[in-house]
Amino acid sequence: MENIKEIVNGQREFYNSGITKNIDCRVDQLRRVKQLLKDNEDKLYQAIYEDFGKSQFETYMTELSLLYHELNRYIKRVKKWSRVVKVSTGLANFPAKSFIVPEPLGVTLVIGAWNYPYQLSLLPAISSIAAGNCVIIKPSELASKSSAVMAEIFNNNLSSKFFRVVEGGVSKTQELLDEKFDKIFFTGSSRVGKIVYQAAAKNLTPVTLELGGKSPAFITADADLKMSAKRVIWAKFINAGQTCVAPDYLLVDKRIESAFKRELVKQLKCYPKVADEIDDNYLKIVNQKSTERLVKLIEKDKVFYGGNYSVEHHFIAPTILHNITFEDIVMDEEIFGPLLPVISYMNLDKAIAKVKQRPKPLACYVYSKSKRDIEKILKTISFGGGAVNDSLMHLSNNNLPFGGVGDSGMGSYHGKAGFDTFTHYKSILDKPTWFEAPVKYYPYFKWKRKLIRFMLE
Ligand code: NAD
Repeated sequence: MENIKEIVNGQREFYNSGITKNIDCRVDQLRRVKQLLKDNEDKLYQAIYEDFGKSQFETYMTELSLLYHELNRYIKRVKKWSRVVKVSTGLANFPAKSFIVPEPLGVTLVIGAWNYPYQLSLLPAISSIAAGNCVIIKPSELASKSSAVMAEIFNNNLSSKFFRVVEGGVSKTQELLDEKFDKIFFTGSSRVGKIVYQAAAKNLTPVTLELGGKSPAFITADADLKMSAKRVIWAKFINAGQTCVAPDYLLVDKRIESAFKRELVKQLKCYPKVADEIDDNYLKIVNQKSTERLVKLIEKDKVFYGGNYSVEHHFIAPTILHNITFEDIVMDEEIFGPLLPVISYMNLDKAIAKVKQRPKPLACYVYSKSKRDIEKILKTISFGGGAVNDSLMHLSNNNLPFGGVGDSGMGSYHGKAGFDTFTHYKSILDKPTWFEAPVKYYPYFKWKRKLIRFMLE
């Protein structure tokens, strides 16, 4: 049995020794993480396949490649990002100098979700150690094999005083949350996000919350229907729809609805339609409970395409639902599965207004050639991040901070944003003693006030 207190205390002691502030030490750890991933790719592929049938191709494309990309970036940039930055000082503090010192936060906790078990746990952990922190990672128990393989690889090869994977479910997470951390980074549902936020508040621990939500994709009348359908279908059904930034539902201009639905169906030709056709590329639903939840959302008379499922095999075929309104049951909560509702609209402004009445989504996508419509949607709806004429791919660019807003989360990571998330920027004013202007000191003569106004306004 792991003793959580001992692990946290061990990390705190190690952090306080100052070793992690050394940049070479951080880079060395990042290199070791990269090498461990490389050396253990087969194990990582096997574990995630056993968890929910994820293929090597998708695991590389949506998990490992992102990790390698991020590690390379950090190995190259961490020295530069950790430098003290001089900034201008202004007349009021003449002849002082001002500078900003990037400083690690301390002992950090990363709680991961199951749906991309490697990258959701390891990307924030990479940011944390690059910024000079110690990190405890708690992957999701729902992808138990992936969690176990991460624990095996990292706990056996890295010092637990620096980098530790703790496995377990709700009670283990609660035990961790009872400890005081210097930062908690959580990925998961809004419901659990609130629990984490409350636990963190007790210690005034800062949090980053990467949550979910219902992300819309607009298809306007002048969109390139074929390409839009291709990209929407890929983004929706990768990971069998169990992706936080998957297009949750489509808002399609009524004038092109029929033509666009035909294009969607064409794109689905090579996907399995029944459980017997499951191949190594189409994923399972993570467990029976989630499969049953999703099955309840399939209203038979609303199925335009697909609709087959097997609870036993945790299989749901890619399904398009049509004649959907915002009042349908499938619009109540984040779908997080391979069901794609199509809502048609006659008036774009009214469709936008409907989206704005709902919680702020994690992503929003616009498929259109109209600059006016694109701008209108991007400017009037508040959402975490998104793409024009594409879906999902914004998260593959680590120059773009990734995170939600409002109900879909707070804070961001990926690339420099991840480093910033785990860094405190300490501001310092350094003033020599050879000169001091008398104006700010008592007694406050009128001429002093005048001079201050003259200098500062
Ligand atoms: P979840 O909230 O059920 O679980 C996330 C983590 O919290 C797990 O590690 C779990 O062990 C822990 N947990 C669960 N219940 C808890 C409790 N009562 N107290 C303390 N800890 C608890 O989420 P999930 O099912 O793993 O993931 C699906 C959700 O995550 C979806 O809403 C999805 O949109 C969201 N998500 C968001 C992102 C993002 O980057 N914004 C990425 C992936 C998933």
